[in-house]
Amino acid sequence: MSTKKVNRIAVLTSGGDAPGMNAAIRAVVRTGVHYGMEVFGVSRGYNGMIEDDIFPMESKSVGNIIQRGGTILKTARSAAFLEPAGRKIAYENLKKRGINGMVVIGGDGSFKGAQIFSHEFDIPCIGIPGTIDKDIAGSDFTIGFDTAVNTAVEAIDKIRDTADAHDRLFVVEVMGRDAGYIALHSGIATGAENILIPESKTDMEGMIASLTEKEKRKKLVNLIVVAEGDEFGGGTQVGNFIKEKLPNADIRVCILGHIQRGGSPSCLDRLIASRMGYHAVECLISGTHNVMVGIVDNKMKYTPLDKAVKAKQKISEEWLKIVKILAS
Ligand code: ATP
Repeated sequence: MSTKKVNRIAVLTSGGDAPGMNAAIRAVVRTGVHYGMEVFGVSRGYNGMIEDDIFPMESKSVGNIIQRGGTILKTARSAAFLEPAGRKIAYENLKKRGINGMVVIGGDGSFKGAQIFSHEFDIPCIGIPGTIDKDIAGSDFTIGFDTAVNTAVEAIDKIRDTADAHDRLFVVEVMGRDAGYIALHSGIATGAENILIPESKTDMEGMIASLTEKEKRKKLVNLIVVAEGDEFGGGTQVGNFIKEKLPNADIRVCILGHIQRGGSPSCLDRLIASRMGYHAVECLISGTHNVMVGIVDNKMKYTPLDKAVKAKQKISEEWLKIVKILAS
């Protein structure tokens, strides 16, 4: 814990974009201004720190953005920040403005960067989990997940209508990188017959046996939701496998893709982003440094960045059981 007063802070968004990042930026800026801090925005993640794309922000800089998807600060992945030389330049650019605190909104990779940076230099960092994948331990929520999963549900409901009209089998691939949360939640919420996620092994032969039986009854309306990171290789591979086994079935594959990243954030995402943004600044003030702010059981939880980066969320046995029972 540092006792140095933090009074000039920078905020950036890094890694994949997530709806609700703007609400978090707004909360950080307005809380900082409220406490009399100088607040700076950094463009395009860590790249902006290295390229000196850093500018002052005030309350009105974040007006009318809470409802907007994307991020007004832009986001990026920065290869240069992986190198000590890049991080040194980034530090010098912050230092020359007297910046002595940072808030990083992003995923586990961004926290890894923040953790290393805060160890190397005397600038405390606070992480805010902003990722649609919900793959970070230490928080029940990550900003963007709720919006993304609702977008997926809306799309899958529509697919269900056309699948039903034609007695078709649809394989729908959703995002999540190596985490299956979007698939799990959207699959349960749309009544998918099968949900394939990286966290649990799928009994493919059992699935084919059940589909074969349905085909015999000419009832092959089936919705299979697949996480992009599933061990089988995603929607296209699953679709090809089923086609091979059931050559007469009418099968379509739909990859939902980037639609899941966009759009106006849900109420929940705006709320958690506002709460986390506010607490991130409170942490910088109180000396609770180099932590990720999370929400667990509706209470704030501060996880040291080194722990937040290593741990992965686990999908509970309860959910896996519910999937099995309800989809049968
Ligand atoms: P998402 O979960 O949406 O993919 P993320 O934050 O995990 O978001 P990454 O691409 O993994 O996205 O990381 C974002 C950036 O963080 C990287 O481009 C890099 O600049 C920085 N970063 C990641 N790992 C490290 C590391 N080990 N050292 C320094 N910087 C890192």
